[in-house]
Amino acid sequence: MLKLIGIDKSYTTGTFTQKALSGVTLDFRRNEFVTVLGPSGCGKTTLLNIIGGLDQYDHGDLIISGKSTKSFTDVEWDMYRNNSIGFVFQSHNLIQHLNVLQNVEMGMTLSGVSSSERKRRAQEVLEQVGLRNHMHKRPNQLSGGESQRVAIARALANDPDVILADEPTGSLDSVTSVQILDLIKRIAKDKLVIMVTHNSELAEKYATRIIRLKDGEVIDDTNPVIEEKELKAEFSLKKTSMSFLTAIISSLNNIRTKLGRTLLTAFAGSIGIIGIALIMSLSNGMDQEIANFERDTLSGYPIAITNSKFDFQKIMEMDEEDMVSFPDTEFATIFDENRLQQYFLPNIITDNYVDYVNDYVDNIAPETISGIKYVRKMNLSLLRYDLETSAYVEIYDEEKTAVPQNPGNVFGFVSSRFTLIPDGDVFGDNYDLIHGYYPVNDLEEGKIQVVLVVDEYNRIYKSTLERLGYDVDQQTEYPFSDIVGREFKLFVGVYDESTSDVATALDVEISGIIRIKQGSNVNLLYNGFGYTADVVDYLAEQYPSEVGDISSIYIYPVSFEEKDELKTYLDSYNDQFETDSLERIDYVDQAATFTAMASGIVDTISIVLVAFASISLVVSSIMIAIITYISVLERIKEIGVLRALGARKKDIARVFNTENMLIGFASGIVGILFAGLLIIPINLIIERLAEMGNVAKLSPLHAIVLIAISVVLALVAGLIPARMASKKDPVVALRTE
Ligand code: ADP
Ligand code: MG
Repeated sequence: MLKLIGIDKSYTTGTFTQKALSGVTLDFRRNEFVTVLGPSGCGKTTLLNIIGGLDQYDHGDLIISGKSTKSFTDVEWDMYRNNSIGFVFQSHNLIQHLNVLQNVEMGMTLSGVSSSERKRRAQEVLEQVGLRNHMHKRPNQLSGGESQRVAIARALANDPDVILADEPTGSLDSVTSVQILDLIKRIAKDKLVIMVTHNSELAEKYATRIIRLKDGEVIDDTNPVIEEKELKAEFSLKKTSMSFLTAIISSLNNIRTKLGRTLLTAFAGSIGIIGIALIMSLSNGMDQEIANFERDTLSGYPIAITNSKFDFQKIMEMDEEDMVSFPDTEFATIFDENRLQQYFLPNIITDNYVDYVNDYVDNIAPETISGIKYVRKMNLSLLRYDLETSAYVEIYDEEKTAVPQNPGNVFGFVSSRFTLIPDGDVFGDNYDLIHGYYPVNDLEEGKIQVVLVVDEYNRIYKSTLERLGYDVDQQTEYPFSDIVGREFKLFVGVYDESTSDVATALDVEISGIIRIKQGSNVNLLYNGFGYTADVVDYLAEQYPSEVGDISSIYIYPVSFEEKDELKTYLDSYNDQFETDSLERIDYVDQAATFTAMASGIVDTISIVLVAFASISLVVSSIMIAIITYISVLERIKEIGVLRALGARKKDIARVFNTENMLIGFASGIVGILFAGLLIIPINLIIERLAEMGNVAKLSPLHAIVLIAISVVLALVAGLIPARMASKKDPVVALRTE
């Protein structure tokens, strides 16, 4: 079933070539106890390694179950070692960080045997070698003989067809040696055992066949196979592969044996994570602080669609660049101050656009809008009956008081005005009626009512009081009860004292006084009069020639998030037009432009700081690479043993990669924990300095991402050393002391 035909093997070191085996031809029976004798350096270990598939022959062939191994792939060799071969080494080569049971299980673990089955079989073989009670011990707690018995149990565990033992008693005293050989003989009675030994006395006693080697050649064979009818025994080759869980358990065990080093590494690796986590929490917190500021102070500003918009094209072409600054000339030139007007284009609100907006407000997302108003240009005059002159005097002219509606005028100061109260909750949410009642119009009868707006100090503009007919030089306090109930006339059209007929005017009465709510930042109305939208609708219907089209629209979203939705909706209106089309309709969200800048600055600073902190991540990655490299050197024996047990190259790399990922994970966790602790004093300091509480906040998402980055970096850093480990020649690895 095992046959070597003309096997040659030589090792070349530098220019020197050592022939280890030369023309070895041997045939083994399915079941015999073969000992290989010979002086040191004659090629015994090499022979076993080649039979066991651990080393590759140069010439000749190894026939396994009648099949040539000349074209065996790595995977097939791995399967062969795992399933068919059990190695017992002179120095038992147990894996130090695994306990006895785990050592015995390792071969089965590699071939994917279930854990309960593994345990059952391992206990069974430990029973056979008489070590059942020692199964939870670590290798360094065992005597030499016990260690060798564990090694035998490990070789037997996967029930191989062939046991290869390389001087198994070499390091044992004679009494223990006899025990071990008895054990091997007893256990392997139905297997092929090939055992290398120096001791010819023992060989004579136990072996059924003795092969003598000298200088890499077979010089004697006491019981060669001659034309023997072979039992056709096939080796069963099952695929080996280490499961991720096994890799984790093995890594965890190894980490446990050098806990101090691992913790130090994890801590060093965590420094970069701490830095980045802190920067991110701060920048996060600042952004949130800005957003809150925006929400608290600026959310009252509506989306305004006014009758002019910036001409970005023109602004780009501003021509100051062509001019010489601080010229040396003796003359002045013209600066047309009205030129700035050129930078505005008409923003004409079409019926289509009004429908488009209405559709949003009424149907698509009514719950997201707290108020809306449509402003029309109107020719109106407010008249007061003057008792002294017994005539009507014009106190208010919409045309004259209207301020130019530049998009930038939201913050501008305006004097007393006649303003439209927006429809929706926004009014009631932000204004209190402090006297009288809300306007009730009787439009059929031509009667309308208005409210008077006072500021938070109950002040009314002097000009407004004068219009109301008060003598502001005489009076300092104006009782609400005196103001409410005052009556005026609203003349639609341009009022001319001599020609206009006051009889056609509408009656206006002040029905109540309103004031902004405490804590509200939403300025809906100018100091002056407020009227309701149905008045405008009525006037537009009755006096179409005096009331213009809608010239501006103010939309008040419920909150900041909703504002963005609305903006997206308004943006998509322009999709139907070319980018430079005059039909495009622009809106202004002044609040946003104000804070976008602030958070832009915060973000830029954060990016720069994160880049700096990342340097320490690079440093810790290099450190992990070095530590992995050292670990590979330290565990070279283990690599050899795992390979002898049938571990694939991949599995070896996996052991190291898993370990690095665990270290990376630990770094991430440690980093996040430390960052979380450091945030507390940092917040206290910021609170002292800037009077902002709890600014730094680490978002859970960022924490998870940072841990993931830490894991990935550790994995990547260790990839090359781990690959080196997987490429280690098992023969060299096992010979390493
Ligand atoms: P034995 O086990 O009989 O003592 P080995 O099989 O270990 O002998 O070695 C046979 C010969 O091959 C020795 O001369 C040894 O120096 C050489 N040899 C074995 N392995 C290597 C190797 N990896 N590189 C170079 N020479 C080696
Ligand atoms: Mg040897």
